[in-house]
Amino acid sequence: MVGGDVTGEIENLIAAVPQIGNVFYIMGKIGEGTFSSVYLAVARLKSGEDSKFALKHLIPTSHPSRIAAELQCLTVAGGEDNVMGVKYCFRKNDHVVIVMPYLEHECFVDILPFLSFQEAKEYMFNLFKALKRIHHFGIVHRDVKPSNFLYNRRLKQYALVDFGLAQGTPDTQIELLKVLQTKKQGSCLQSKLHTVSGNIPVPREVVLPSSTKQSVKRHWSHLQINPGNNGKEGLLGGCTQRSVFGERNFNVHSAVTQEVNTTKNIKQSKSLDATRKLPVRKTVSTKNAASGMTRKAASLTCDCFAKDQVCNICLARSRQVAPRAGTPGFRAPEVLTKCPNQTTAIDMWSAGIIFLSLLSGRYHFFNAADDMNALAQIMAIRGTQETIQAAKHFGKTVLCSKELPAKDLKMLCEGLRPLCTPTSSSEPEIQKQRAALQMKAMENQDGWFNKLIRVTPYTDRCSNVVETFTNSLESEQSNMNGWNTVPDEAYHLLDRLLDMNPGTRITAEEALLHPLFKDLIGTHLCKLSS
Ligand code: ADP
Ligand code: MG
Ligand code: ZN
Repeated sequence: MVGGDVTGEIENLIAAVPQIGNVFYIMGKIGEGTFSSVYLAVARLKSGEDSKFALKHLIPTSHPSRIAAELQCLTVAGGEDNVMGVKYCFRKNDHVVIVMPYLEHECFVDILPFLSFQEAKEYMFNLFKALKRIHHFGIVHRDVKPSNFLYNRRLKQYALVDFGLAQGTPDTQIELLKVLQTKKQGSCLQSKLHTVSGNIPVPREVVLPSSTKQSVKRHWSHLQINPGNNGKEGLLGGCTQRSVFGERNFNVHSAVTQEVNTTKNIKQSKSLDATRKLPVRKTVSTKNAASGMTRKAASLTCDCFAKDQVCNICLARSRQVAPRAGTPGFRAPEVLTKCPNQTTAIDMWSAGIIFLSLLSGRYHFFNAADDMNALAQIMAIRGTQETIQAAKHFGKTVLCSKELPAKDLKMLCEGLRPLCTPTSSSEPEIQKQRAALQMKAMENQDGWFNKLIRVTPYTDRCSNVVETFTNSLESEQSNMNGWNTVPDEAYHLLDRLLDMNPGTRITAEEALLHPLFKDLIGTHLCKLSS
């Protein structure tokens, strides 16, 4: 069903890019993010065949080089191994519409209570396949989360989407991500990040390096529609403003305000200021309101630490700029602490957070509004000492006044996993055991943790579940969808994904070979060799 607002939006889109209307019938809106709207469309093919597509209309203020990079990720790395591909692209003036095959998918939070352990495992395996592929091309996705990893349960199909925040590794094969890197470095030197003055030279067509031309040509050779050829309608449009990193997250002003006003100090040492290439040593003092953590004095080069005013030495220091794109609850510790050298490991952390949700039945798992609290929440689970140790590896000093031990991941997940499953109502013994575990998991926890338990009132959702599943209850009573026999390997893999040190965190390639997947590895290798 298409509501009034959406009808208007669709009309506007067709008015802006008339070619769309000639080829597609737009059925409705399926997604809306900060930088795009996504529509479901049916192609009016001459053959009489109906084919469904997802049309991603990027906001007209998107930066051309950003759009081109997103498109190049899809054309070069997409179309295989659970990475979404692209079919066509339309542009008229500053409107760009990316046309992808449509993958009908479920909403993660809706299916979470119903997933069997085996299904959760397959989900993760397929996510690692996609990550292995993009990492192989030197793409850091930066926004790995369930809404960007589409899953169709019935078809057992998966697709990693949304390269709108992607960045390249230093040796990336995506040439246009290199362009972004150059721009990023340039923009780091400017203090105002969101105003790109003047028009950045915009090529009329995407200029592809010879190494990628072939594969792109392969993809684009299926095109039935030329992505623009008359100078007005090309791939890249007029230059406007869009931060490479995501405006909400990459906001120097708010970071500074936070430093000054709340004295949750993030200070840089002098060594950082001399050159940005050096690993940054800085002090992060966290104060978690709920747990009552307080700051401690620390020895720094100036004497304003722990005072309510920032001294001139500190004010004169250049601000640390590092990418912070992504969604707060999925940000890796090195992203939260603004480590400048971020690698593909940040995607593995985000995958770990998804796995944590699957194993605990909780979504969103972390829900902090700002980076300091997000780090405090991570520390509450991974331990303060562990965090401090790991932070050293990426050049950060983390101080916290209260020591929290690392949680046992198995106990944590088992304790949080819903008491109510379609089978549990008839198994009071298991319910009792789980209640005990849940109590244990909650012990010594701060407000956030208790909230985590309250915010997702599982029993509410389960009343629904129980009703829906009354009929199937009997047949399922003998098992718990595999959740009562989760092997330790699962928690070992989770531990390796949530490694605080990005340098030792498991890679996608390694994850695929993890013993947890021993029953799936065979099929994967067969496919690879065929
Ligand atoms: P944004 O950058 O705005 O987050 P995404 O590329 O993530 O845009 O798309 C937003 C949403 O649109 C996705 O979460 C998904 O629900 C839907 N979507 C995107 N691409 C497809 C596709 N190829 N098939 C089906 N749905 C899609
Ligand atoms: Mg998205
Ligand atoms: Zn100072």
